[in-house]
Amino acid sequence: MTETPDFPQPGILFRDLSGLFADGPSLRAVAGALLDGFGEMDAVVGVEARGFVLGTAAAVNAGLGMLAVRKAGKLPGDVLTESYDLEYGTAALQVHPDTLPAGSRVVIVDDVLATGGTLAATLRLMERAGWRVVGIAVVIELVDLGGRAALEALTDAPIEALLTL
Ligand code: IMP
Repeated sequence: MTETPDFPQPGILFRDLSGLFADGPSLRAVAGALLDGFGEMDAVVGVEARGFVLGTAAAVNAGLGMLAVRKAGKLPGDVLTESYDLEYGTAALQVHPDTLPAGSRVVIVDDVLATGGTLAATLRLMERAGWRVVGIAVVIELVDLGGRAALEALTDAPIEALLTL
């Protein structure tokens, strides 16, 4: 992992996992560890964009499919939309509600949990789509930013971080 000060805005210390993604044994180890301990699930949900890399690796490792939660404007047809605040700026996420059957058990995967805004919006999308979130998995949790508490206000699902900073 690298840490870059003042990226993408002044005052933000940006943690980047590109080196981990590019290293085969590291990616395999993370893929194997991310879904540990969540019990039965039907699919993995990956949040754009680094959640796609991690979510797909973890899903393939577990023999499951990966559903993409995308930034607004990327998915055609009927979509659900939820807006959210980032550590820097605002954005919206979208999902196709008919990709999985109602009641499907999903684990949400992303690289970093910071304020929790991204994963909170993803939780709201899952609820509106009728899917049951049975876990949230990230590689890095930035504990001082309070994301865990924000998510625990929305879900009873376990939240697992491989690394807390
Ligand atoms: P949150 O919504 O504030 O929890 O921010 C989490 C989202 O922003 C994730 O999708 C991350 O990819 C991204 N993010 C926030 N901080 C960082 C960071 O330091 N490094 C990489 N991504 C970050």
